[in-house]
Amino acid sequence: MLDLIVRNGTVVTPAGVEHVDIAVADGIIVGLFQSGHGEPPEAARTVDAAGLLVVPGGIDPHVHTNSVLPTAAESGIKCFGPDRVSEGAVHGGTTTLIDFAHWKPGEELWQSFERKGKEWSGSSYTDYALHGTFAQPEIPFEVLDQVPEVVAAGHGSFKVWMTNTTPTRPKQKTDVGHIWALMEKTAEAGAMLCVHGEDDDIVMYAYKRLQREQKTAVPYMPDAHNALSEQLSFQRVITLARHVGAPIYLMHVSAAEGIEAIREARGREQPVYGEVLPHYAYYTAEDYKRENGVIYHTYPSLKSAADRDAMWHSLVAGTLSTLATDGVCTDLDVKTRGQTILDATGGHAGVEVRMAVAYTEAVVRRGLPLNRFVDFTSANAAKIMGLYPHKGAIAVGSDADFALMETGLEWKITAADLHEADYTPWDGYEAAARNRLTVLRGQILVENGALRSPSPGGRLLKQSLSSDVASRPAC
Ligand SMILES: [Zn+2]
Ligand SMILES: [Zn+2]
Repeated sequence: MLDLIVRNGTVVTPAGVEHVDIAVADGIIVGLFQSGHGEPPEAARTVDAAGLLVVPGGIDPHVHTNSVLPTAAESGIKCFGPDRVSEGAVHGGTTTLIDFAHWKPGEELWQSFERKGKEWSGSSYTDYALHGTFAQPEIPFEVLDQVPEVVAAGHGSFKVWMTNTTPTRPKQKTDVGHIWALMEKTAEAGAMLCVHGEDDDIVMYAYKRLQREQKTAVPYMPDAHNALSEQLSFQRVITLARHVGAPIYLMHVSAAEGIEAIREARGREQPVYGEVLPHYAYYTAEDYKRENGVIYHTYPSLKSAADRDAMWHSLVAGTLSTLATDGVCTDLDVKTRGQTILDATGGHAGVEVRMAVAYTEAVVRRGLPLNRFVDFTSANAAKIMGLYPHKGAIAVGSDADFALMETGLEWKITAADLHEADYTPWDGYEAAARNRLTVLRGQILVENGALRSPSPGGRLLKQSLSSDVASRPAC
């Protein structure tokens, strides 16, 4: 007998939009049957999805948990942990999160994954994976040599920073020579290299100039974290990747110039992938001027209306591949503690509403087909981070991860509706869709707004990048 059958939904599969019943056993999709044709197979639990949109559980490939916030370093305040973030995620229909395992000098590379993995193990409602990160100017040769073994163990992505972000926070930039060395290792081992692309020289000079002119209020953020910096750093790292023959993933693309650099690279068939954040595709630098405008901020920065519009255009055109949140979940008092370009806390709450906002902006406001909505909320992240087709697809053999979304709504979002923080940068936003039921590996986690899962049962996922994704712009 089946464990679960989801009947009568409008289901987005890799083949298109279909009216199929989804049969699940042992956490896996074992069959897709035309709805309404013959008697459905017997199942321990039947969910009637009539009138609901059924999509692969969302994948957010960029969230931070338990990070000490640079602006609150002295007090040691951290953003929320996997328990809180994953609870918000499953309420919103996201079933996989990817966080960061920071390597520390003196330890072996596998130890950083083990340390971060312990924070997630037994604490997460979603499945999860970890990007290895190097927040050091130099990566020792012996650590570079450990890259193949951790990739073989299933950790298929790494991240580096090209800037220290602000003059005041702990250093995190890796020198380009060492990024080159790491890229050679990741490419050879078959892993993805994720990059925070900003030109450190430009950013740090801009800070000096702005401080001299006493222009340090948050609305000056785009002057410090500007489009030129994004363009220069993207061009530099793309050139490096072309030289090495490495696939790269550019996180939080914020400017039209950054998109153009990605478009050019993909035009040469280079495997370069770009990520948008929902608020970069909705808000602009004008929103920094609102009361508590810092709640809309994530590094690099919000830009102009033209940049914002370019984000959606690029998702439609397929130049950019994923919609991630760069989630740094805190309550409002922590998020608003820094009120200048020197101490503003980056990242914010947003994991929970990502799917609803994406549906509203992409499908309803811009008429994108449903399969494209699935691409950038789930399938592409799975492909780029080596989780496909276990994740990111409603197909026979894939993990039974679904979001059942009610559409045609006018849901005015308030923080009180949500589970991730006491504020939301999406307060008052009218969403046209809302997640109603979430399934992870065949288990119903959320139903009618309530958490059904007795305990967090998320698992660490093994990443394995396909040669297609590693060798050309495959999605
Ligand atoms: Zn970043
Ligand atoms: Zn981030």
